[in-house]
Amino acid sequence: MVRNKLPAILLLFALLSCGATLFLVFADDSQARAARQLSTAYPDFIITVENNSVIWKDKTVTLFDDGKTGKTWLETLNSPDLQDQLALPYPKKYTLPFLPGKNEDPGRIRNEEFFKKMYGSTKKEIESHLAAIRWMPLVSNEVVYVTTVNNIDKKLMQVSAELEKLPSQYRKYITRIGGTYNYRFIKDSKRLSMHSFGIAIDMNVDNSEYWNWDYNNELDDIVYRNRMPYEIAAIFEKYGFIWGGKWYHYDTMHFEYRPELLVEIK
Ligand SMILES: [Zn+2]
Repeated sequence: MVRNKLPAILLLFALLSCGATLFLVFADDSQARAARQLSTAYPDFIITVENNSVIWKDKTVTLFDDGKTGKTWLETLNSPDLQDQLALPYPKKYTLPFLPGKNEDPGRIRNEEFFKKMYGSTKKEIESHLAAIRWMPLVSNEVVYVTTVNNIDKKLMQVSAELEKLPSQYRKYITRIGGTYNYRFIKDSKRLSMHSFGIAIDMNVDNSEYWNWDYNNELDDIVYRNRMPYEIAAIFEKYGFIWGGKWYHYDTMHFEYRPELLVEIK
């Protein structure tokens, strides 16, 4: 009997070890990709990702994959690990009609500890890094506050200089700025807005769309809307800012500095 069962046992063993190998390959692949994305995007802070750990330049280590599987959408949104933060690819293109799949919000899943570690863990610490910059001094000349960490102030000035060169019909979207630094929670949530870290900027509110003005619940089925011309977003993307207009939960005025999501598409 043992002899008859042996091939089946061997086959089972082979299949199991093959599955385990595949799992390891996928885990390694996601870590290798994260290592490339994070070390390229944040050279002042991150060395690599290995052995399920993000290795920081200050010699501290944070967890990459929390090992939890089968998280619901709300669990993913409210307590993501860094692997979740990087899981959804940010689309390189924006072709019309733009029809994101349900909850396709690349960049909207954020591990708060990651941002606190770079930009400051308290309001006071974050504010110690802020700088005032002149937004489009030739056509608008507003003062906005962003962080100097990762040279975001300088990058935003480069964005401003390019936006200023766009034809006048674009100006209604990019003047009378909706807001930059603002230490606050996202509406109806316990999650800190990226405006709290001085890494986000909202364009003109009157010419923008935000899913939460049209729908009440995160879990609603949402029909995408946008008026913001992609020429504007493409300039932001060039300098490491992602656009909320590429989200299922659209926030078309919103841009935030998330170069890790743009690394792979260059
Ligand atoms: Zn915003």
